[in-house]
Amino acid sequence: MRAVCGRCGGSKGDFAAVCPSCGHRPTGEGLAVAWLLSDHNLDRAGLDKVSARIRAGEHIQPGRAQLDKARRALQSTLTTDPGLTSRERVLLLACCLLLTPLPAWIMAWWWRRVRPRAAVQSLALAVPTTALFTALGLWGLLGGF
Ligand SMILES: [Zn+2]
Repeated sequence: MRAVCGRCGGSKGDFAAVCPSCGHRPTGEGLAVAWLLSDHNLDRAGLDKVSARIRAGEHIQPGRAQLDKARRALQSTLTTDPGLTSRERVLLLACCLLLTPLPAWIMAWWWRRVRPRAAVQSLALAVPTTALFTALGLWGLLGGF
């Protein structure tokens, strides 16, 4: 067991995963609680104990200090996002220039939570290429071509 479900006390492989017993998926603030109920925070004995408490019907409410610790830990996993590889950036830029900047916008939206650094890099490609396309489009409309 690597994490305990905060709702039913069942075990799951990863704190952010869907619980195989009850289908509960931690989101938002629940993710911080879920992190606290995982092997990132507790040893095996601690996990067994908290699982027994939840199964007995207890609602786990961690203190502010515990939640802060969890938030900091979750934040650092977010900032370990390595960003786009140079190959990915070249492909995305080529797509933006040759076809449309739309994929870069979609990727930026798609990655905004899971890969924040990659999302910012996509945005950095999407904004200037969109401006370029808009400028070229306007120029075309005004009879530049
Ligand atoms: Zn569960």
